[in-house]
Amino acid sequence: EADHALYIAKASGRDALKVHDDELGQRAQLRAQITHELASALERGELSLHYQPVFGADGRQPVCAEALLRWQHPRLGLVPPQAFVDVAEDTGLIVPIGAWVLQQACRDAMTWSAPLQVAVNLSVRQLHSRGIVDDVRQALALSGLPAHRLELEVTESALAQEAAAADALDALRELGVGLALDDFGTGFSSLAYLQRFRFDRLKIDRAFVLPLQQLENSAPVALVRAVIELARALDLACTAEGIENAGQLKVLCELGCSALQGFHLARPMADAALRDFLAGRHDPVGTPT
Ligand code: C2E
Ligand code: MG
Ligand code: MG
Ligand code: MG
Repeated sequence: EADHALYIAKASGRDALKVHDDELGQRAQLRAQITHELASALERGELSLHYQPVFGADGRQPVCAEALLRWQHPRLGLVPPQAFVDVAEDTGLIVPIGAWVLQQACRDAMTWSAPLQVAVNLSVRQLHSRGIVDDVRQALALSGLPAHRLELEVTESALAQEAAAADALDALRELGVGLALDDFGTGFSSLAYLQRFRFDRLKIDRAFVLPLQQLENSAPVALVRAVIELARALDLACTAEGIENAGQLKVLCELGCSALQGFHLARPMADAALRDFLAGRHDPVGTPT
C-alpha cells in the first residue's frame, strides 16, 4: 500500500503527496473511531450476518452458505468486514464477536428449508484462543445443528503459529465439524500447510479465478487445474471463490471443480433473502448488500 501511495504521488506531483497524507490521517482517525465503537456494536445489535450460497459442481444446486459479517453502523452505514475484522483481532474483540457469529450462523442454518452446510470464517486470534472449541460446541448444542452441517474456514495466515493451531484444529475436527483452508494459494507456504494440517476442503482464492477465460492452454487455467487435481489426489473437496462471469464458470465446470461461489452465481444476502432464495422466491444475482 505504501508503494502504491508513492507511485500515485510520483505520478501526479508533489501536491498529490500532501493530499495523500491527509487521507492517511483520516484513515488513522477512522480506525481509532472504529475501535471505540466496535466495542459496543455487538451489544447494540449492530452486527449481522449475510450469507453467500455456494453451489455444487453443476453451478445450480446450493450446497452451502458462507456467513459473512456485516456492521450496520448508525452513521457510516453498512461497514464491510475488511474495515473492522483486523481491528477486532488487534483488540481481542474478535473472540466474543466470533462466538456470536458461530451461534447466530448455527441458529440461522436451522431455519433453512434445505439442509445446506453453513460455513463460518475463523480468524487467527480465535484459533489461538482457549475457548474456541467450547464456543463451537456450545453453538452446536444451543442450536441443535448437527456438527457435519458446520464448516469452519481458516485462512493460511491463521496457521503461522503452528503448534497451537494444530491442537485447535484437531480438537475441532473431533467435534465432527468440517475444516476448510480459505484463500488457498495466497499464503507463503500453502503446500506445507496441506502437509501439516488435515482439511476437508480447499477454497481456491479468487485471485486465481479472476484471469480464467477459456479452456485453452493458458497459465491461469493450468494453475487452477493443478490445484483441483491436488485437492482430488488428497481427497479434499474444492471450492472456487470469486466467480464473476460465465466464462470463468464454464472453465471451472469443465475442470470439474466440486463447488462454486461468486457474484455471478449469487451475491451475499440477508438471512431472510437466503430463505426466500432457497424457497425459489428470490433471484440470487441481485444487487450487492
Ligand atoms: P472470505 O472468507 O474469503 O470471503 C469471501 C469474500 O469475497 C466476501 O467478502 C465476499 O462478499 C466476497 N466475494 C464473494 N464472491 C465474490 C466475487 O465474485 N467477486 C468479488 N470481488 N468478491 C466476492 P466480505 O464479505 O467483504 O468478507 C471479506 C473477508 O472478511 C472474508 O473473506 C473473511 O476473511 C472475513 N470475514 C467475513 N466474515 C467474517 C467473520 O464472521 N469472522 C471472521 N473472522 N472473518 C470474517
Ligand atoms: Mg471464507
Ligand atoms: Mg475466501
Ligand atoms: Mg478470498
